[in-house]
Amino acid sequence: MELGAEFVHGRPPGLCSILKAAGLPLFEASEQRWRKEGASFKAFPEFWETIEKVDGQIPAGPEISYVQFLDHAQASPSEKSIARAFVEGFNAAQAERISAQAVALADRAAEEIEGEKAFRVTAGYGALVDWLRAGQPENELRFETAVERIAWNGEGVEVRCRTPGGIRNHAAECVVITVPLGVLKSRQIEFAPELPKDKLEALMHLEMGAVQRFVLEFDDVLLSSRNMPEGFVMADGLDVPVWWRTTPAPRNLLVGWTGGPLALKLGELSGEQRRECVVESLSKMLDVRIEDLRRHLIEVHHHDWMADPWSRGAYSYPGIAGIEAARMLAQPIEGRLYFAGEATDFSGHSGTVHGALESGLRVAREINSP
Ligand SMILES: Cc1cc2nc3c(=O)[nH]c(=O)nc-3n(C[C@H](O)[C@H](O)[C@H](O)COP(=O)(O)OP(=O)(O)OC[C@H]3O[C@@H](n4cnc5c(N)ncnc54)[C@H](O)[C@@H]3O)c2cc1C
Repeated sequence: MELGAEFVHGRPPGLCSILKAAGLPLFEASEQRWRKEGASFKAFPEFWETIEKVDGQIPAGPEISYVQFLDHAQASPSEKSIARAFVEGFNAAQAERISAQAVALADRAAEEIEGEKAFRVTAGYGALVDWLRAGQPENELRFETAVERIAWNGEGVEVRCRTPGGIRNHAAECVVITVPLGVLKSRQIEFAPELPKDKLEALMHLEMGAVQRFVLEFDDVLLSSRNMPEGFVMADGLDVPVWWRTTPAPRNLLVGWTGGPLALKLGELSGEQRRECVVESLSKMLDVRIEDLRRHLIEVHHHDWMADPWSRGAYSYPGIAGIEAARMLAQPIEGRLYFAGEATDFSGHSGTVHGALESGLRVAREINSP
């Protein structure tokens, strides 16, 4: 059961060519949007038009928050609320904190790769990780090995790690740091000497977003009896407001998603309360009594990415001045410390698998052609 990334957003060339080399086919998911209105699902074909109409007005120039931008945008309250919900849900962001100009940059970047389309790796993203892993020499990958300290100077780098067998030290000419932004911001890894001031400042302008993603597994009866359409169903006012099927994966799974402020709010609840909330949301969305839903529910699968000390959030988004901050975070330090990972993307693809992958290729180029 995959509890993290699910979609390939558009046709990013780097990721697509790796998937091709790995022999992993993609399945195009329905991009259709639906709204739950009363007891029925209503097609919402003007969804992308609305996003384009609103985001198309984001001014170039000094970065402002998405909320500040919305205050002056020429759009109806309902169009503004659709655009805001999308930024909060998709970017996992707080609209008061995300840079509107970064949203516009991401929109342009997505347009270049047909980002409105969404694909699933038919065998799941796990199959890609397995393929990449199989290509590594044996014993080159160390699991359950947490980096605690990175000491560096003109001679090289020494990395101290905690493993189940105790502390292990590794020496190298240089290192590539790919831990999530949330981990870097928490300062749980000690740098000696400390990271330069401009790097630390960059961390302050980048934000770790919040997502709550639930996979509900049912016996076959329930879902085949409901007319839940393919695509993304939006049900305003629910704690978990966005739902979709996992086609072509088993048809007895439904994904519930919330990002940004709603996800942070759910994060304050216990695991049990969160599960109750998601079942309640689904009961309202499908118009099925909670007791009936529970009778067919096998399991609620969920991972708390915000509480996970190895991620400390779902994925990053640029705060105000965040575009330049990501560029700064990506800068190597004296040929010893290199930085990759989705948060170091400054081309509009942060927060995605393909953005993370491209950042790895960027660092490989930096190391090979200093
Ligand atoms: C619920 C959810 C759904 C998502 N859906 C999508 C999607 O549909 N499509 C998409 O493109 N993207 C999606 N994403 C985002 C995508 O998963 C990330 O952008 C991508 O995984 C980032 O890759 P990364 O290599 O930068 O970081 P990560 O994948 O987070 O890898 C960082 C690694 O560092 C390790 N680590 C942390 N601390 C230490 C330490 N001290 N020592 C050693 N190792 C450490 C972590 O364990 C982890 O393995 C989703 C993310 C979430 C959470």
